[in-house]
Amino acid sequence: DIPPNSLEAYWMPMTPNRRFKSAPEFFVEAKGMHYRTPDGRSVLDAIAGLWCVNAGHCHPKIIEAIRHQAGKLDYASSFSLGHPLAFHYTNRVMEIAPKGFDHIFLAGSGSEAVDTALKIALAYHRSRGEGHRQRLIGRQRSYHGMGFGGLSVSGIGWQRAQFGVMLPGVSHLPHTHDLTRNAFSKGEPEHGVDFADALEGILTAMDPSTVAAVIVEPVAGAGGVLPPPKGYLKRLREITSKHGILLIFDEVVTGFGRLGAPFAAQALGVTPDLITCAKGMSNGAVPMGGVLVHHQVHDAMSQGPETTVELAHGYTYSGHPLACAAALATLDVYQEEGIFEKAARIAGKWEAAIHDIRGAGGVIRDIRNLGLLGAVEIEPAPNAPGQRARAVANHCLENGVFVRALGDTLILSPPLIINEDQIGQIADSIKKGIRAL
Ligand code: PMP
Repeated sequence: DIPPNSLEAYWMPMTPNRRFKSAPEFFVEAKGMHYRTPDGRSVLDAIAGLWCVNAGHCHPKIIEAIRHQAGKLDYASSFSLGHPLAFHYTNRVMEIAPKGFDHIFLAGSGSEAVDTALKIALAYHRSRGEGHRQRLIGRQRSYHGMGFGGLSVSGIGWQRAQFGVMLPGVSHLPHTHDLTRNAFSKGEPEHGVDFADALEGILTAMDPSTVAAVIVEPVAGAGGVLPPPKGYLKRLREITSKHGILLIFDEVVTGFGRLGAPFAAQALGVTPDLITCAKGMSNGAVPMGGVLVHHQVHDAMSQGPETTVELAHGYTYSGHPLACAAALATLDVYQEEGIFEKAARIAGKWEAAIHDIRGAGGVIRDIRNLGLLGAVEIEPAPNAPGQRARAVANHCLENGVFVRALGDTLILSPPLIINEDQIGQIADSIKKGIRAL
C-alpha cells in the first residue's frame, strides 16, 4: 500500500544500498525479538532496531505508558512550569547513574545530547574563567550524531566531506584500532595504556590548556564496533584529568545495559565528566536523549567566577511528557525484569557464538565483541568494498535474521532479552551467508 511516486519522493537517508527503490522491504509490526514483514514472515532482530530496543520491541508496559500519557498530557514546555514526569524521571535515572553524577539535561535524540554535552563543556570552562579552552577532540572512526557539533567531532570522514564547513578547532586522534587489531575480550595484554600515552604526546603538541573536552564512545559503535584495548579508557581519564580537560563518554549505544551494567562507565570502571545517552533510554519507542552531568562539573559551573549554570540551551522537546513516560516505564522494565543482569549473564554465550563464526571461512578478517555488541568484519571483495558484507546481510534477511552491514562489517547489537537459541540462530545464519559468498 505504498502511494505512487512516494518511493521516489522519499529521500532515504544515508543509504549506500539503493536496492530499496527497486525492491522495497518493510517491517510492519514488531514484538519482542522479532519484526514481521507484510507477507507475515517473522524476522529475528539482531541489532535492536538501531541499537535501541534493549527490552525488545513493543514491550506492553512501555507502550501502555505512552498510550496513557498521550491521553493525559501531550505537551508541557520545560521552559515554563513543566510537568512532574521529568522530575520523576530525573530522580529515577540518578539511581542507576555512575557515582558522582547528579544532574541530567534532557534532549530529544542522541545528536542533541552530544551537541548539548559539547556546549556544557565549553560553558564549564568559561564559567571558570578559562574561556580560551575551546578545542574539542574526537577520535577517528567515532560516530557522534548528525548535529553540527556531533558531526564535527565524529571521526567518519565521508560523513563530513559533503558539507565542507564544520566547527572550528576540532581534532581527531587516531583510533587505537587503526594502530593494531585487537580482540578486547580475548585476553589481549594491557596495550591500551601505550596508545593512550601516545595520545598524550599529541595532546601536548597541541597545547592541552586550549582543549575543552575529549569525546569518545567507550566502544566505538557505528565505526564498526571497536572495543577499547585494555587500560585505554582508564589512562585516557588520567591524562584528561591531569590537563584539566573534560572527558565525555558518548553512551548513546552503550548506555542502558548494552555492556551488562547501566552504563559503560560502570561496566569498564572509568568515570567521565559527562555521559550522553539516548536510544535504550526510551527503548526506542519515542525519541529521547540526555546528558548526565557529574556533580563536579555542575558545582564548578555554579561557583565559577563567570557562572553559567543556567545553561542558555534547551529544546522544545527536552523532557517531553511522552518521552518521560516511556523512559520511566523503560526503567521499570529494565529493573523488574533484571534485563541488564540478563545481558551480563548471557554475554559469555554471545562471545563464544560470535567467535565461532570464524569457522565459516577465510573471508573473515576480524571478529570483535564486548557485552552484547558484536562485529564480523569481512575481507572486501577486490574493487567492491562493502559488497560481501551486504550480500551476507541480505542472505541473513532471506533466512529470517536482520543484521546490519556497515561497509565491510556486519554489526550486531541484539535486544538484551535475547536467549541462547536466538544467539545460535544469528550465528548460524551469518555462517550460512558467509559460506554462500
Ligand atoms: N552517538 C552515538 C554513539 C550514536 O551511535 C548515535 C546514533 N547512532 C548518535 C550519537 C546520534 O544519535 P541520534 O541518531 O539519536 O541523533
